Formats: sequence, C-alpha cells, structure tokens
Amino acid sequence: MTTKSLAVGFCIRRARLLNVVIIGGMAAGCRAAARLSRLSAEHRVTIVERSPFISFSSCGLPLFASGEVDGISNLYKTSYGAVRDAEFFREVKRVKVLTETEVLEVRTEKNEVVCKPAGGDGAFTLPYDSLIFATGSEPVRPTFPCVRSPLISSFHYPGDAENFRKAAQKGKVATAVIIGGGNLLYSKIEKCLSTRDVAENPLQNYLTTKVTKKWRKEHKERAINE
Ligand SMILES: Cc1cc2nc3c(=O)[nH]c(=O)nc-3n(C[C@H](O)[C@H](O)[C@H](O)COP(=O)(O)OP(=O)(O)OC[C@H]3O[C@@H](n4cnc5c(N)ncnc54)[C@H](O)[C@@H]3O)c2cc1C
Repeated sequence: MTTKSLAVGFCIRRARLLNVVIIGGMAAGCRAAARLSRLSAEHRVTIVERSPFISFSSCGLPLFASGEVDGISNLYKTSYGAVRDAEFFREVKRVKVLTETEVLEVRTEKNEVVCKPAGGDGAFTLPYDSLIFATGSEPVRPTFPCVRSPLISSFHYPGDAENFRKAAQKGKVATAVIIGGGNLLYSKIEKCLSTRDVAENPLQNYLTTKVTKKWRKEHKERAINE
C-alpha cells in the first residue's frame, strides 16, 4: 500500500461515525462519555444505565447522611447547581443517555447489546463499534452468617445513606460498629460519628499509627468542643 492510499484509508475511517456504547452511567461511564465526545465530534456516545439517575456522587453520601447536604438530589448536581441528568448530558456533552434501561446481553458476533427498559417494555438492540463496561462494583458481603435487618447496611447505595439518616434523625443510632477499615470508614466516621470508640488504628491500610493517633486526638477535641 502506498503512502497516498494509506492517507485515503485514514480519511475514510475518520469520516465514519464511531458508535460508542457505555454500560453504566456513574463516575466512570459519564467521565468516559464526556471525554470521548470532547475528543471528537465523530463519536456518537450512548450511556445505558439501569437506575433512574446518572452521574451520582457516592462520595457525597456521608455528607448527606450527616445532614451537611440537604437533599440527595444535590448529589446529582454540578458545582454550579445544574442537575446532571439525561438532558444535561445531551445538551452540554452531546451524549445520549438511556436511564432505567439494563443491558442484558452483549452479542460480540453482531457488535450489539440487548437492552431492556424497566417496566417490562420490549427489549431492543443497540449497535456499537466500541463498547465500554463501566458497571462499577458491589459491596462484598461478609462470608459469616449475618441476619438481614434495616439497621445493617453496606453504605454503598443512596438508599443506605437515606436509611442511616432517617434512623439517626429518629435518635436510633447511639452506637455503630463498622466492619472494614478503608477509605469509606474514614469518610463515614468523619462525617457522621464522633470517634470516641474506634479501634486503635482503623486506617492501618492508609495511615501510620502515629498519624492515626493525631487524627483521633483531633476528633476527640472536636467532639468535646461540640
Ligand atoms: C459512601 C462512599 C463514599 C465514597 N467516597 C469517595 C471519595 O471521597 N473519593 C473517591 O475517589 N471515591 C469515593 N467513593 C468511591 C466512588 O464513589 C466510586 O469509586 C465510584 O462511584 C465508582 O464509579 P463507577 O462508575 O466505576 O461505578 P458505580 O458508581 O458503581 O456505577 C456503575 C453503574 O453501572 C450500572 N450498571 C451495572 N450493570 C449494568 C447493566 N447491566 N446495565 C445498565 N447499567 C448497569 C449500575 O446501575 C451503576 O449505576 C465513595 C463511595 C462510596 C459508596
């Protein structure tokens, strides 16, 4: 192939619209969609999200649970107050969003995904040139037997934070036990609880004992001041 035919081939490829389907419409999916649409006007990006909302900030859940953020809808908003919904993504990012729609199957031989809208309407297919999985993660449930109770929660989904907040507002949360000592523990403790009773070094995966002691001292002081 000559240099000229290579260049022509490149032009033909570039002229073609590239259909990108993204499964999952939260941090990863929305970020990928916005970036792709910014990179080229030839990208036709569609996000398929099974929940009713997209681009939800899970990081703000401790703030909502503690009452620092009023309504949960504030966690769908940009820093300047615009709601990040399907219309926002269509208008501002040139991205099509299908909420309450679940991808049930990927047909790689046909380059299409099978989608089903919530509420039982018929399934339909979406063709793709490129497919992105942004389907996130699920909380790991302990392997030991654990009763189901509204007072036991993973604190992963908006509903978990809503339940926690309601229970706290009714005065039902005097003590709490948190299983797991990662980042989430830190943000939840910081925002929701006074930390008189946490283990010696709950953040051992992240902080040294010395730093943790300082952190505990500060929290103790804050609790006393309050
Ligand atoms: C309480 C809390 C506090 C946090 N704080 C911070 C923080 O301070 N800083 C930080 O960096 N991170 C924080 N995180 C982590 C951060 O929120 C996650 O890393 C981030 O949400 C991951 O985004 P994601 O898009 O990869 O996945 P997810 O948010 O899990 O989204 C995946 C989406 O895919 C959808 N989906 C899955 N399968 C399908 C399907 N078949 N069809 C259609 N849709 C599908 C799901 O409905 C879901 O909405 C926190 C998380 C929590 C829970």
